[in-house]
Amino acid sequence: MPHHHVITCRNFHSGTWHDDPADTIERHNPATGELVAIAARSSAADVDAAVASAATAFRSWRKTLPADRARYLHDLAAACAPRVDEMAASITREQGKPLDEARGEVRKFVTALHYYAEEAQRVFGRTIPNDTAGFTSIVEKEPIGPVAGIVPWNYPIELIGWKLAGATAAGCTIVLKPSEYTPGCAQILSECVAEVFPPGVVNIVHGDGRTGQALVEHPAIAKIAFTGSMRTGQAISRSVNGITPLSLELGGSCPMIVTERADIGAAITGAARRSFRNAGQICIAINRIYVHDAVHDEFVAGLAAAADALKVADGIEVPSADVGSMTMDETYQRTLDHIADARDRGARIVAGGGPVTELSPGLFLRPTVVDDAADEALVMHEETFGPLVGVARFTDLDDAIERANAAPGGLAAYAYTDDTRETFALARELDFGNVAVNNVDAGIMNAPYGGRRESGFGSEHGHEGLESYLQLKHIRLRH
Ligand code: NAD
Repeated sequence: MPHHHVITCRNFHSGTWHDDPADTIERHNPATGELVAIAARSSAADVDAAVASAATAFRSWRKTLPADRARYLHDLAAACAPRVDEMAASITREQGKPLDEARGEVRKFVTALHYYAEEAQRVFGRTIPNDTAGFTSIVEKEPIGPVAGIVPWNYPIELIGWKLAGATAAGCTIVLKPSEYTPGCAQILSECVAEVFPPGVVNIVHGDGRTGQALVEHPAIAKIAFTGSMRTGQAISRSVNGITPLSLELGGSCPMIVTERADIGAAITGAARRSFRNAGQICIAINRIYVHDAVHDEFVAGLAAAADALKVADGIEVPSADVGSMTMDETYQRTLDHIADARDRGARIVAGGGPVTELSPGLFLRPTVVDDAADEALVMHEETFGPLVGVARFTDLDDAIERANAAPGGLAAYAYTDDTRETFALARELDFGNVAVNNVDAGIMNAPYGGRRESGFGSEHGHEGLESYLQLKHIRLRH
């Protein structure tokens, strides 16, 4: 049952919670304005204590057997399972996505724990014959050390799950810094962790960017796993000076190409889902669509109708709604600015276009499609992070691919075509870390997931996600 109380989010390290600091951050429900969480705004000293806890625990955790780590992760999944509804309600009340969607997110988090529990047992080194008789080289993979895991608010528990599960499965300990917009689910998680894990393996510090900065700059942190905006990713990259291993999962502007040989019905369904789910606040959301001139009118009419048919509502009151409240004033305003900018540059608004007035002052926007958007329009090259998608036409596929590749970032691209040659051209020439053809699920748990260019580097998911927490050691034996 959803809890209608204010969640107090406390720092968790050394297996226990620490006194409420004087300095706190309040989180209000973006749909209603009610106070829903109070979290610590941790100081550098709080961060220091959490990192010390992770560093101490690492000494013994790194020596545990993979099968033991698997058991801990399966046990954590079991401890979280009864709290799925509670975590989901906290996410909806802080972040805005409808309750059913939030439940789906928490279930994916639980799946990530099980997945890496199994993957922990599939880490192997190798032996290498030497050129000199009597020598053998062994390459071993060792956990890298205490990890800093910093996450944004759009998938508050799923993104924590990838980092927590990958790092601890590899034999690392971790200090997590949830977003200041969505601290509640991390508090619930800490209660599950306390039941299961040895002290210090999983630690949580709450706070905003200053807390995050103190964490990434801490000398005892051996690896930084960051998910968030390009701007913060660049700031972290500068502040660590290129020494601390870093993975950056950043944003970007994701394109979709629909050719004249596509199944237009399927393309419309895919576009509506991946443009507007989570109110467009997804790093792999479709921002811009290039449609072949011959199928343009049919596609746009279908997409506009699909957008209009989406149910926008308070995600607690209507758990099955398609689109809930947006999360931040800033992204809400940016979406409105991008709509105005596209219109000023000659685009036509064919669906949505502004707030759902009866739900204001909640941050509810109608799913919006702007057609014939100029390449210069902001929606066609900046990440909006809202329920807005821009459509443009093409006649030559190479030209469409070039335009798709031109905007900053290289996280995910989508294409619809039933032609084999076009499929391979699109799959090979789209310069993105994830390309989905005839579907819109670019990220799955057992395949590597990561960006290119301004969208960052490093992989999460899959075996590669685990490898990112390991370092190599060459052992040369004379025998
Ligand atoms: P953000 O960069 O503002 O914040 C992300 C996290 O970093 C938060 O926990 C924040 O407190 C912390 N932070 C802020 N400044 C910091 C600093 N100087 N040092 C260390 N930590 C700092 O991003 P956001 O607004 O929370 O999230 C939205 C962005 O995240 C979008 O751009 C989206 O595309 C991106 N994102 C990417 C992926 C991916 O897998 N590539 C997934 C989800 C979201």
